[in-house]
Formats: sequence, C-alpha cells, structure tokens
Amino acid sequence: CSNKKEVVTRSTFMLNTKLDISVWIEDKNRGVEIIQECFKRISEIEEKMSVNIENSEVNKINDHTQKEFISVSKDTSEVLNASLKYAKLSNGAFDPTIGKLVELWGIGKENFRVPKKAEIDEVLRYVDYQLLINNGENKFKLAKDHMRIDLGGIAKGYAGDEVYKIIKKNSVEGAIINLGGNIIALGTKIDGSNWRIGIQDPFEPTGTHIGVVEASDKAIVSSGNYERFSIVNEKRYHHIIDPKTGYPSENGIISATIIANYSMDADALSTAVYVLGVEKGLELIENMENVESIIITKDYKVYLSSGIKGAFEIKNNKFQIVN
Ligand code: FAD
Ligand code: MG
Ligand code: MG
Repeated sequence: CSNKKEVVTRSTFMLNTKLDISVWIEDKNRGVEIIQECFKRISEIEEKMSVNIENSEVNKINDHTQKEFISVSKDTSEVLNASLKYAKLSNGAFDPTIGKLVELWGIGKENFRVPKKAEIDEVLRYVDYQLLINNGENKFKLAKDHMRIDLGGIAKGYAGDEVYKIIKKNSVEGAIINLGGNIIALGTKIDGSNWRIGIQDPFEPTGTHIGVVEASDKAIVSSGNYERFSIVNEKRYHHIIDPKTGYPSENGIISATIIANYSMDADALSTAVYVLGVEKGLELIENMENVESIIITKDYKVYLSSGIKGAFEIKNNKFQIVN
C-alpha cells in the first residue's frame, strides 16, 4: 500500500494547560501544518476569552460599567450565549459570572487562600448570570458594576470544537484532540474501529483508568477535583465553585464525565453536573439528547446515564456501578 497513514502528534501549552493533537495522515508535513493551524486558532480564542489577558474581549466587558454594551466577536458571542444557555438549564450551577469568586479563592494559583465567610458573602452579590445581558448583535454587558465573567469552564470546550472543524475540513479521517483533558475522538482508527478513550481514575496518577469509552466523533470531557486544587490544613480545595454557596462544590462527586457531540456542551455540562450532584446532575443529562454521563463519587460508586449503560465497563473492581 503506497499511501500508508502515520500518526503526527504535536503538543503545546496554552489556556494554561497542555494541549496535544494527533492526526493520522499520509503526508506528515501536511499533518504538522494542520496542527499548527489548530494551535493558531486556539491562540486566537484565548486572546479573546481569557481573563488573564488584559485586553481580551471578556475583560473589556468586565472592565466596563453596567451602562455600556460592549461589542464582541462572533466567537466570544457564541460562547457567552452558550454559557447563558447552560446557566439557565442548570439553574445557575454553571454560572459564567463566577469571576469574582474564582479571583477571591485563587485556587491552583500562587495567590490561593481560604477566604473568610464575610468576604465570600460580599462577593456572592456579584455572581448572577441573569445580570449578563445580550442585546442581540453580539453586544453584552454586566448589569451590575464590579461583576466579572470567567469562561474557564466552557471556552476550552469551544476551542475543541473549532479544532475539530479545522481537522475535518482537511479531510483527516482520524484524530485525537486533547485540550487539557477535554478530549475529542474524531472519526475512527485507521482500521475503521472506534477510538477507545480511558476514563481517569480520580484517585490515581494521570493515565490510570477506571474503564474505557468507545467513541467516534464524540467529545469526552471530565471535571474533577484531582487536577487543579490547593491543600490547606490537609483539606483539599478544588477549582469548581458552587455559585450558591461560594465554596468549592462538595456533594460527594469527585469526577463528572460528559460524552456529547460538541465539546463546548460537554465542558459546560461537566462543570454543571459536578456542582448539581448525582441526582440533579443525572436528571439534567437524561433530559438531553445525545448526551451521556459517567459520575464517580468519593465512595467509589459510579453512576451512568441510561444511554451508556451496558456500553461502559469497569476495569477496576474497587469501583462499582450502582444504577
Ligand atoms: P472545568 O470544570 O471545565 O471548569 C472549572 C473552571 O471553570 C474554573 O477554573 C473556573 O474558571 C470556572 N468555574 C468554576 N466554577 C464554575 C461554575 N460553577 N460555573 C462556571 N464556571 C466555573 N488558567 C491560568 O491559571 N492562567 C491562565 O492564563 C489561563 N488562561 C486561560 C484562558 C482560557 C481562554 C481558558 C479557557 C482557560 C484558561 N485558564 C488559565 C485555565 C482556567 O482557569 C481553568 O483552570 C480551566 O479552563 C479549567 O478547566 P477544567 O477542565 O479543569 O475545569
Ligand atoms: Mg467545564
Ligand atoms: Mg475539564
């Protein structure tokens, strides 16, 4: 066979995380070019949506007063509107106006500290997605001064979908996109079989799996307490905050994985389910088409949405599927 496919992999560091893209392709040089185009696109998205870049579009909204609508690009508009959609669907468990709480805690950063209850209560006044207003025409404002948007729970998902489009457009039939644990399995393996994506064991080092999901053209996104956290007095503080309490979400869940057609949906939903807890989280997922979920709790229990039951097998008997 003259046109034999080989894997081309490139990695970089953006969105404050490690990004790996692998494409299976005949022409290696073209593979490298395609991946470079993907990284360029991710960099554009980061410039627009990062709260850590002074002049990002998100920070322009953050830095303006409640009176002024700010024009943003189609990219940012799409992510902001999706974030509002998921905020409504999750009854505020996912909230794009979480910014001031993320800053206050500084989880996973050098400035991490456990805030006083009074500080949290003060900041909670500035967390309310219903005050993020879109006037149509890609214009947004925060209807209360000092509120701050943070798209850390969804923008990486959008970047994944954009990367998927670029690779598809280039007629690649098989690729694995891994943006800091947000995975997209594009097409199939060379032999035409589905990709097999491992679900991380939240108690073990990265790469140890509790089981495997078979996937083709699917996004698999996990939110967990095991990647980004800080420890004070032996207590672990992770980076997913319950917008109702202002504290890192504690409801027994340690990992929520979503399998969906789009990684932006999966990203927002994994964060939402993590905050909602097992019962409400599963209820949200069951009400959505083409979305499945694997939830792991502290006591080694695994909860599956109905569409993935029978298709997901546990490889480690310390875990137990309970529903
Ligand atoms: P997810 O579960 O997907 O989301 C958790 C993140 O979402 C939190 O880190 C917080 O940002 C936000 N969040 C927390 N609670 C909620 C909630 N209830 N509802 C909605 N959102 C919530 N990190 C840096 O340290 N420095 C950077 O310069 C930096 N730049 C970034 C630029 C972009 C465009 C993006 C998308 C991320 C960037 N990050 C940066 C990383 C970011 O802060 C998060 O750590 C990361 O995106 C979280 O992904 P996750 O899969 O771990 O968690
Ligand atoms: Mg998320
Ligand atoms: Mg994630």
